[in-house]
Amino acid sequence: MLKNLNNGLHLEIPKNKKTYMHKCDICDKEIFEGDNCYKIDGIIYCPKCMDTHLQIIAETIDIDAFLTDLENKEVGD
Ligand SMILES: [Zn+2]
Repeated sequence: MLKNLNNGLHLEIPKNKKTYMHKCDICDKEIFEGDNCYKIDGIIYCPKCMDTHLQIIAETIDIDAFLTDLENKEVGD
């Protein structure tokens, strides 16, 4: 019976064991509790893919602004 006292330690959850939360829908990276992750339109992004996503959005806006600028110049003529 005395041996069982030591087994109590095994009930503690190791601190480095994180709870699995999501998987990045872009690169399949596993995202654990406490990690940053982002959800847009039901798609889950890890921070790395979020960066890429934001860069694509930024580029698209630039192109739209560029095209709008061109159109305005044509109308102005
Ligand atoms: Zn990812």
